[in-house]
Amino acid sequence: MRIDAAKCVGCGQCRPFCTMGSIHFRRSEKGTKVHCYVDEEECVDCGICFRSKVCPADALYQIVHGWPRSIRGTFSNPLAEHKETRVPGRGTEEMKTNDITNRFKRGYAGMAAEMGRPGTGARLRDAEKVFKALAKLGVEFEPNNPLTGLLANKQTGEMNPEVLSEKVLSAIIEMVFPLEMVIPVLDTMEKAAREIDTVFSIDLVARVDEDLSVPTAKIMEKYGRWFSFNGKTNLGLGRLQVKGAYVS
Ligand code: SF4
Ligand code: SF4
Repeated sequence: MRIDAAKCVGCGQCRPFCTMGSIHFRRSEKGTKVHCYVDEEECVDCGICFRSKVCPADALYQIVHGWPRSIRGTFSNPLAEHKETRVPGRGTEEMKTNDITNRFKRGYAGMAAEMGRPGTGARLRDAEKVFKALAKLGVEFEPNNPLTGLLANKQTGEMNPEVLSEKVLSAIIEMVFPLEMVIPVLDTMEKAAREIDTVFSIDLVARVDEDLSVPTAKIMEKYGRWFSFNGKTNLGLGRLQVKGAYVS
């Protein structure tokens, strides 16, 4: 995103809309006028300032960026589409509707690490640190996830070096592993959290058992780990793929 300094009247109305706090005031060279500019190194190209339509001077304008800068917008702007996967947004869909889709089968857990939030964002070099730590455990990264698409080596977790300095609003690492790996994976994530310069939250997903108990909850309780139950109801999903699924 950029601001046309000649048009900008320095009203500052766009600043509260910036998800990264990357719009700042400055004086013109002659010192006669105050206008705003975008710190493009910190901007994630989410487009929210532009789409808010608050600018009275039509001074904000979007740039069509080439590779690798282009991935900032595809991860951060909900209206953008990933060329690699055709999946919009930060990760794949339907992870949280697993009891309908059966993506993670009995005996396995799915996990999503949602990296970055408004105000912090996430540099992809931090995503690579998490990828590398998880790869050592042998987890399987979701092949249709847009972040997986940026891996140069799925066995080592190395990402394409061209993207490491890019910053996104948020991106999701998705993976699957056997239930007995839940605690080692959580331990690895806790260690990785100390080595990165952003925040992440973890979603842990598993099929509900025949007795309606949740296998991942039992593991978390057994090892004294904090968790909270979250459910998701997709009305009209209409693609029941699980024999014996529990649907209300
Ligand atoms: S595109 Fe997003 S991050 Fe960039 S200046 Fe606008 S609101 Fe801020
Ligand atoms: S809203 Fe428009 S005119 Fe006001 S500071 Fe932002 S870019 Fe400049």
